[in-house]
Amino acid sequence: MTKSNHALVTGGTSGIGYAMARRLVKLGYRVSVNGLITEGTEEDLLLSFGDRERVRFAEADLRDASAIESMMARAKEAFGPISVLVNNAGIQHVSPVEDFAVEKWDAIIAINMSSSFHTIRAAVPDMKEMGWGRIINLASAHALVASPFKTAYVSAKHGVLGLTKTVALELAKHGITCVAICPGYVKTALVEKQIPDTAKARGMTEQEVIEKVLLAAQPTGQFVTVEQIADTMEFLLGNGAANITGTAISLDGGWTAQ
Ligand code: NAD
Repeated sequence: MTKSNHALVTGGTSGIGYAMARRLVKLGYRVSVNGLITEGTEEDLLLSFGDRERVRFAEADLRDASAIESMMARAKEAFGPISVLVNNAGIQHVSPVEDFAVEKWDAIIAINMSSSFHTIRAAVPDMKEMGWGRIINLASAHALVASPFKTAYVSAKHGVLGLTKTVALELAKHGITCVAICPGYVKTALVEKQIPDTAKARGMTEQEVIEKVLLAAQPTGQFVTVEQIADTMEFLLGNGAANITGTAISLDGGWTAQ
């Protein structure tokens, strides 16, 4: 089987995933874009990539393993075997552990961690046959360190790093790398939505949350940008990154150096 130019991005309808999907289109990949569509139509989304022929919508609610299996099968039928798999979808919920809603825990573990296991197990046989593959998991600084009130998110992201290391070892002899990108705070919908809940959990105003919690974590005092993450992804696709596998790449403004 020859190397394909098909990339699949989960959570590619917004924020970091959207920026990475756009970059993949620009790099000449055909891209299957998964995610929830919250604004406009599916067609509006696909047109926004600027090359309608090379993008398709990969529908699946990532809480559902069988929906992921059919998404992966349909993606292969439409654009051929997947050589670049970007597991990016994620949600957040902020609450003290004793009040943490069980359904939120289940959803975060399913979307932020288990969905990557399901996409990886479906994509690996073709990557092995092609003798080439790139698996990029969007983890987080929270794959390396914890913060209070984020039990499910921190647990899932630590799990993603474990998955990354294990998969990398299994595939090391097959020309397939598996890497976890670990960003600090990026100003996307995911972060905007947690500001009010963090304010409540910590007894702060929303402005205090931005200054004293989010940006205080990052010695640079800056948010990481989606373009910086797309640049890192692009680097990981190249030959220069062929020996970068089973590891975490931090883009966190120095957060985890402390
Ligand atoms: P976002 O909210 O902008 O995007 C999340 C994406 O996941 C969207 O496309 C959404 O539709 C999709 N999604 C959510 N639930 C889904 C479901 N059930 N089925 C299918 N798709 C679903 O958030 P973002 O900030 O771009 O986050 C992307 C990834 O980066 C996440 O894994 C997040 O944990 C990680 N991350 C974000 C930050 C940050 O500060 N924003 C920092 C570190 C890591």
